[in-house]
Amino acid sequence: MDIRAIRTLAGRLLRQPTAPYHEHAVRSEVERICGEHGLESRRDQFGNVLVRLQTGGQRRAMVLAAHMDHPGFEVMRGISAKSWLVRFRGGVPDDHFRPGLRIRLMPGNVPARLGRRVGTERTFVASAAAGAKVEAAPEFAMWDLEPFAVRSGRIYSRACDDVVGVACILATLVELKKRRSRVNVIGVISRAEEVGFHGALAVAARRSLPSNALVVSLETSRELPGARIGEGVILRVGDRTSVFDSDGMRYLGEIAGELKEKRAGFEYQRALMSGGTCEATAYQEYGYQTTAVCVALGNYHNCAPRKKIAEEYVSLSDTLNMVDLLVAAARRMEEFPKLVGKLPMRLRAMGREAQEALAATALG
Ligand SMILES: [Zn+2]
Repeated sequence: MDIRAIRTLAGRLLRQPTAPYHEHAVRSEVERICGEHGLESRRDQFGNVLVRLQTGGQRRAMVLAAHMDHPGFEVMRGISAKSWLVRFRGGVPDDHFRPGLRIRLMPGNVPARLGRRVGTERTFVASAAAGAKVEAAPEFAMWDLEPFAVRSGRIYSRACDDVVGVACILATLVELKKRRSRVNVIGVISRAEEVGFHGALAVAARRSLPSNALVVSLETSRELPGARIGEGVILRVGDRTSVFDSDGMRYLGEIAGELKEKRAGFEYQRALMSGGTCEATAYQEYGYQTTAVCVALGNYHNCAPRKKIAEEYVSLSDTLNMVDLLVAAARRMEEFPKLVGKLPMRLRAMGREAQEALAATALG
C-alpha cells in the first residue's frame, strides 16, 4: 500500500473528535470513506459499523476489529452559561488531572479549562475560555491537543488509540478492493472500548459474525521493552489478561516472515503487550479464534513524562507494515491450514530423527 494513502485516511479520521459513546463524527467519516470506495457498510443496532468485502465465495472470513473512541470527558450537566460538570471516561492515572488543563468542548470545538475536582470520582468543573462562543450545548470534551500532524515519520494525534486502528482497517479494505482480491473480510469498527469494550462485547454476544471467522484485533498499544516504535508491526500474542490463539498467531507469523524476506521496508516484532486489555479478549471469550496486531504507541492515553498531557504518537512505517500484513493475510486465508501445519510437520520429522539419534546412543 502507498504510504500517502494511509496518511490521508488516518488524517481524515483523526481530525474528527471522539470520546467513549461520542464516536459519531469518526463514524460518519468511516461511512463517507466506505461510500467513496464502494465498500458496503452498515450500522448494527448498537451503532457499531460493519464493513464487508465479500468477493471470495465460501472462503473463511477474516474479521478486522478496531474501536473509534478514545479516553475523554463526558458532559454531565450545565452549572452556569459557561461552565459544566464533566466526567472523565477511560484509563488515565489520577495524578495527571490538574486544574487549568486545556480541553475542547464538543460539538463546537470550544476552548475551555479544567477546574476543581468534585467528589472523589474523576468529575470536574470545566469552564469555557473568556470570550469563547458556545453555540451548541456541549456533550463531550477532549484534551486540547493537535488532532493530526506528521513529523519525522511519526503520526502525532490526540487520539491515535484507536483511530489509527480504524484507519488501518479501511486502508486494508480499500487496498483489497483496488486489487480485486478474492477475499472475505469484515471490518468491525466498534464503539466505547475504553470503558470495557462495550461495542466488541455487543457484537460478540449477538453472534453477528461467522462462528468460524478468524478475528484480528488492531490496536495501538503502549511501547514496551522489546516492542519498539519504528521497528515494525507487532504480532500481539496477548494482552494484560489473555494469551491469544497459537495457530492464528502462527498464521500471521508465517505471512510476516515471508513478507520480510521479499519486501524491503517490511519489519515485524512479536510480543506480549501487557499494557492493557484489548478487544481480542472479548472475542476470544465468546469462542472466536482470535489473534491481534498492534503498533507501538508513545504517550499512551496522552500521558507524557512528568505527568504531562500530550499527543500520542505512532510510526507511520509501522502503520504501513500493519496494513501490508493484513492485506497479505486476508488474501491467503485459504492457505491457513497449510501455513499453520508447517511447524508440526517439521517437528514430527525432527522427532523421528531425535528418536533414532538417541536410541543409537542410549546405551553408551
Ligand atoms: Zn486505549
